[in-house]
Amino acid sequence: MNLLVAGGAGYVGSAVARRLSTSGHRVVVVDDLSAGHAEAVDGIRGIRLLRADLAAPGLDRALAAAGPVEAVLHFAGKIAVGESFADPEGYRRANVTGSEALLAWARAAGVRRFVFSSSAGVYGTPEKVPVPESAPLRPVSPYGETKVAVEERLAGAAKEWGLGAVALRYFNASGATDGGRHGEDHRPETHLIPRLLAAAASGSAVPIYGTDGPTPDGTCVRDYVHIEDLVEAHVRALDAVRPGEVRAFNVGAGSGASVREVIAAAERVTGRTVRTKDEPPRRGDPPSLVADISLAARELAWKPTRGLEEILASAWSWHRGRPGGYSGRRG
Ligand code: UDP
Repeated sequence: MNLLVAGGAGYVGSAVARRLSTSGHRVVVVDDLSAGHAEAVDGIRGIRLLRADLAAPGLDRALAAAGPVEAVLHFAGKIAVGESFADPEGYRRANVTGSEALLAWARAAGVRRFVFSSSAGVYGTPEKVPVPESAPLRPVSPYGETKVAVEERLAGAAKEWGLGAVALRYFNASGATDGGRHGEDHRPETHLIPRLLAAAASGSAVPIYGTDGPTPDGTCVRDYVHIEDLVEAHVRALDAVRPGEVRAFNVGAGSGASVREVIAAAERVTGRTVRTKDEPPRRGDPPSLVADISLAARELAWKPTRGLEEILASAWSWHRGRPGGYSGRRG
């Protein structure tokens, strides 16, 4: 198939783009490279990179070079919950306006298949954990609100012009792919696992955000899913798209780990001690977020196959191979 991968130079988007090109699809990546890295897709057969901002005027012109497209996978957007409180307007522009422009382009281009990177952030602080897809969508951050807004736009597109879409609600995507050759490189890095590994390597201290919450050890519980499993979910989702319908699926490991448990696992995997410092909870962080993944198992025949140790081991080999990230100057 001819595929357009928006945000395909980012952490998850590039992993999916590489996998789809390896399976023989022709992939055009569109990315403004504000957070993505050209090195994540450069030189890979079957992938072409176009540089464009989805929310800027002239998207049609920028995407004319993509040629005919049969399906869109949409990863482009800003991803940091904390930053979204400081810059809600920037988050709406990048995530909602950008998605609206991409959908308008897709409609005009005759694209009827769409896979969207949504987030567990749509649930806010769920009443029930593990959280099923049927739980109310009550985001507690501007970031989460943008993901709900885009899911709503997809529903509108399904009704108005017959788009078929799958929204994958990611829990905590983590780990590295391609034997540690590609991994997470956000600037600044806000995520727990890359921060822990950088601290294991350097001896610096990692903050623990919240130590007396309503969880077994007081620290936040999250559901860490290996990037390779997440990639597989996209492959299944692309096949499962049904015309005129939007379906949402949780993509997580289906089990939780507390911040302290992740730290202990990181120490085991690296053989190093990780220094920590207790900090107050981070704004917009629910105490516990774990996915009920039974719907994806049933309808996408998808199941995660890798655990926390594999996540950490792969992320550690990425970190050790390229301690400065793609450009050698990690933020
Ligand atoms: N966290 C932490 N220290 C850090 C970064 C994150 O304690 O330096 C916690 C954070 O509060 C959350 C969990 O680790 O409970 C995972 O955070 P991350 O930013 O990796 O992903 P999120 O769950 O926010 O998408």
